Amino acid sequence: MAAEPIVIVGGGLAAARAVETLRTQGHDGDVVVVTSEPHRPYERPPLSKDYLRGQAERSSVFPLGEDWYAEHGVEVRTHATAVGLAPDEHRLTLADGSVVPFGTLLLATGSTPRPLPVPGHDLRGVHLLRTLDDADRLSTQLLQASLETGERHAGTPHVAVIGDGWIGMEVAASARQLGLGVTVIGRGAHPLGRVLGPELGEVFAALHERNGVKLHRRATVTALTGTEGQVTGVTLDDGSHVPASIVVAGVGAAPNVGLAAAAGLDLRPAEQGGGVVVDGTLRTSHPDVWAAGDIASIPSPTYGRPLRVEHWARANDSGPHAARAMLGASDAYDILPYFYTDQFDLGMEYTGFVDGPHGYDDVVISGDPTGEAFAFWLKGGAVQAGMGLNVWDRMPEVEALIRDGGPADRAALESFVG
Ligand SMILES: Cc1cc2nc3c(=O)[nH]c(=O)nc-3n(C[C@H](O)[C@H](O)[C@H](O)COP(=O)(O)OP(=O)(O)OC[C@H]3O[C@@H](n4cnc5c(N)ncnc54)[C@H](O)[C@@H]3O)c2cc1C
Repeated sequence: MAAEPIVIVGGGLAAARAVETLRTQGHDGDVVVVTSEPHRPYERPPLSKDYLRGQAERSSVFPLGEDWYAEHGVEVRTHATAVGLAPDEHRLTLADGSVVPFGTLLLATGSTPRPLPVPGHDLRGVHLLRTLDDADRLSTQLLQASLETGERHAGTPHVAVIGDGWIGMEVAASARQLGLGVTVIGRGAHPLGRVLGPELGEVFAALHERNGVKLHRRATVTALTGTEGQVTGVTLDDGSHVPASIVVAGVGAAPNVGLAAAAGLDLRPAEQGGGVVVDGTLRTSHPDVWAAGDIASIPSPTYGRPLRVEHWARANDSGPHAARAMLGASDAYDILPYFYTDQFDLGMEYTGFVDGPHGYDDVVISGDPTGEAFAFWLKGGAVQAGMGLNVWDRMPEVEALIRDGGPADRAALESFVG
C-alpha cells in the first residue's frame, strides 16, 4: 500500500517553501497542499508595497510558478478550508466534508487581520489587507483615486489609515506615493512604537511627515461615517473627523490556531506570544504534525524563550526547516528573527527580538537616521536587536553581536555605520 501523503495546510510562503524543500530533498511521495484561497501559495510583502501601487507584476508574488506544482507531482487544493484535524486518525476534514488522509502534516495557516471593532466598519471603501484579493480591491481604489486626484481634486484627503504598525505605515507610504492625501491614525505616541520604541518610531514619523503624511497620534477611532453605504471619514475620540473615501485598517493580526486547538495540540498562552507550541524541529505536541510560519511558537536558544513572529523571513526559513524535519532531520531551528520594510526612499532591515517596551533599556544610534544609519537595542549592555537604515548586507555582523550575548562595546556600536 502506498504511504499516505504529506499534507500541508496553508497558502502562504511557509507552505510554498515547505513543498519546494520536500521535492529538492528528494521526497518523491504524494504531497497535497490545502489552501482556503483561490490561488496557489503566494507571499504577502508586495501587497502593501509595489504590487499595491500597481508597479509589480502579479506573477511576482508567487514563489513557485504556475506549472511547478504539476511538474513536481504536487496536488494543490484551492478554495479548500480545513475544518477538522484528527492527528491520531491521520485525517484532515475539509469544509466540503471531504477527508484528506495524511501520514504527516504541516500546519502553516498564518494569520488573520483583526477586524475594526467600530460602527461603520462594513461601509464600502473600508479595507483590511491580508490576501491578494484584498490587495487587488484596495489597489483598484487607490489607483482610481490617484487618477481623480491628478485630474480634479488636488489636495483632497482621500485615504485614512487606521493603525500605525508596519502594514499601516507601508500602505500610507504607498498611497502617498500615488499622490493621495493620507492621514495615519495611531493609538500610540509614536508610529511603530510598540516594536521600535520612541527613538526609532520618530525616525519613521519624520519620514512620513517629510513626505506629506499627516499623523494623528494617541487617537482612538470611535466610528466610521458614511453616506449611502460609502465611507466618508473617521471619527476620533476627541470628536474630530478625518474625511476619507478610502479607509484601511491595519490594527494587528491573530495567528490562525483554530485547527490546532480543535486537534488538541498544545498552544502557547497569549502572554507568551500565543501560537502553536513546537520543538526545535518544529514538531507540535503530536508526533505527526508540524507547524511553521506565523503560527509557530519556536524555542529560541539565543533568547532562551519561545518566539512567535509574523515575518516574511520566518515563513521563508521555517517552512523548509519543518519539511526537512518531516523527512527525518533532527537539527534545532536557531535562526534569529529578521524583517524588512520599504517606505518612500527608506529601506530598513532588522534582526533580533525586543520583548516590548521593557525589553530594552538603551538605544544606540550610529550615523544619520535620515540617511544611512544603524540602531541597536540593548538590555543590561547586551545587544537584543539591530536595524540598518539604507545600509544593506551587514545583518550578519549585527547577528553576531546579538549571539555574543555579552556587554557590547558602546563606542564600537556608535561608529558601526563606518
Ligand atoms: C500586506 C502585508 C505586508 C507584509 N509585509 C511584510 C514585510 O515587509 N516584511 C516582513 O517580514 N513581513 C511582512 N508581512 C508578514 C508576512 O507576510 C507573514 O509573516 C507571512 O505571510 C507568514 O506566512 P505564513 O505562510 O506563515 O502565513 P500566511 O502568509 O498568512 O498564509 C497562510 C495561508 O493559510 C491559509 N489557511 C489558513 N487557515 C486555513 C485552513 N483552515 N485551511 C486551509 N487554508 C488555511 C490562509 O488562507 C493563507 O493562504 C506582511 C504581511 C502582509 C499581510
